[in-house]
Amino acid sequence: AYDVHIIGGGMAGSEAAWQLAKRGLKVRLSEMRGGGEMTPAHQTAGLAELVCSNSFRSDDDEKNAVGLLHYEMRQLDSLIMAAAAKARVPAGSALAVDRDVFSAEVEAALAAQPTLEVVRERIDVLPSAGLTIVATGPLTAEALAHSIGAATGADSLAFFDAIAPIVYRESINMDVAWMASRWDKGAEASLEMGGDGRDYINCPMTKDQYLAFREELLAGQKTEFKEWEASTPYFDGCMPIEVMAERGVETLRFGPMKPVGLDNPHWATPEHPNGRWPYAVVQLRQDNKLGTLWNMVGFQTKLKHAEQVRVFRTIPGLEQAEFARLGGLHRNTFLNSPTLLDRQLRLKKAPHIRFAGQITGCEGYVESAAVGLLAGLMAGAEASGQNWSPPPRTTALGALLAHITGDAEAECYQPMNVNFGLFPPVAPDVKKKVRKEAYTARAKADLAGWIA
Ligand code: FAD
Repeated sequence: AYDVHIIGGGMAGSEAAWQLAKRGLKVRLSEMRGGGEMTPAHQTAGLAELVCSNSFRSDDDEKNAVGLLHYEMRQLDSLIMAAAAKARVPAGSALAVDRDVFSAEVEAALAAQPTLEVVRERIDVLPSAGLTIVATGPLTAEALAHSIGAATGADSLAFFDAIAPIVYRESINMDVAWMASRWDKGAEASLEMGGDGRDYINCPMTKDQYLAFREELLAGQKTEFKEWEASTPYFDGCMPIEVMAERGVETLRFGPMKPVGLDNPHWATPEHPNGRWPYAVVQLRQDNKLGTLWNMVGFQTKLKHAEQVRVFRTIPGLEQAEFARLGGLHRNTFLNSPTLLDRQLRLKKAPHIRFAGQITGCEGYVESAAVGLLAGLMAGAEASGQNWSPPPRTTALGALLAHITGDAEAECYQPMNVNFGLFPPVAPDVKKKVRKEAYTARAKADLAGWIA
């Protein structure tokens, strides 16, 4: 017998298990990987495997909302934060980790808990009784996703989330491509971020090149989707590039490949000393702080990997492109939490079931772990018959929780990273320059009060 059953040993499930076990509660943690199962993104059987980037983003707890979330989790003895500290690799002001060391640290800490049992099993149906935390993530296995769908009555829990390819900067031919922002706009924001107002790399196309490129997109081999996935809708903002190409000859030219406001200086003539607008443009945006990786804007795709390399190398300037990551689409299973969950992350219709992690509609490793931490505290209090009051909304934890459990627009609920926009505003007379510090200082003071 156990006090709490946690389903899913990822970021959220591992953190929730830790918070419960260290309070002496009996926990069963069911993780399907290691029991003959895998998700489309995971590659190991390790608990808390990081599926993509190895970064927990900014560790700056004075000016950055996710850095503040790191701080708050550390105050609450987070396992994810402790393991990250042990696995840390140099990454400027970001917190990045060696993913294998990180996962091993999480496993070791949980294995040392006498009241915790990790069981390698796949759960297909929501338990009908007993305190449960479902933390099965964006790639929740199919049978359980159906069971959740049946329990929530929601038409659809799953959407596609897309990834665009990333190119190494040094492999881009800048004799063909050039740096610019459309209409030179955004210069002020760019300067604030240390840029020079010309933030994008632009690859120009003539009309013939554009038409030929569109044909390649249409003809290129695509990854086949399983029947169940084929009926899953796309997020509006992340339609695959080849699906857009299918919609019409001009669709891309009016969408991500829009050339307006982009004078190509390589095409300068005496009449047009600043250059001319190309017929179409492929833009790349800086993807890492070092500026070594650049993301192809709007180029999420389900072309097969070899096809992506072949087709995208026909783009002028990218003939020799080397890809740090190729594009892809993945399922993102999440609930319409603002309508389905109560303020304690419990399913209103079946309050013994609590949700945590990305399935609640937060986005990111840190946010997922943070919601796992909260779910662990809540379930712990409930199992011990104690009252639980949520962290103040002025804290990152409180702001995230309030967003998920009721403050967000339920009608267009979309996955969300933590950001200062979720916090109650600080006094309007706080100068813009020190506003972020005002948010974090208030949060730290209020968190300390709450913990006390
Ligand atoms: P997970 O960490 O995925 O954990 C869920 C666990 O549940 C898994 O271990 C899974 O095996 C298990 N499971 C699923 N179904 C069952 C079942 N029926 N029974 C038992 N176990 C089950 N976030 C970032 O911050 N940075 C990134 O770079 C990033 N890249 C991403 C790339 C992809 C392809 C995806 C899908 C997501 C990415 N995310 C990223 C978003 C998100 O932060 C991570 O997915 C994060 O791991 C979510 O944490 P979680 O605990 O909710 O889910």
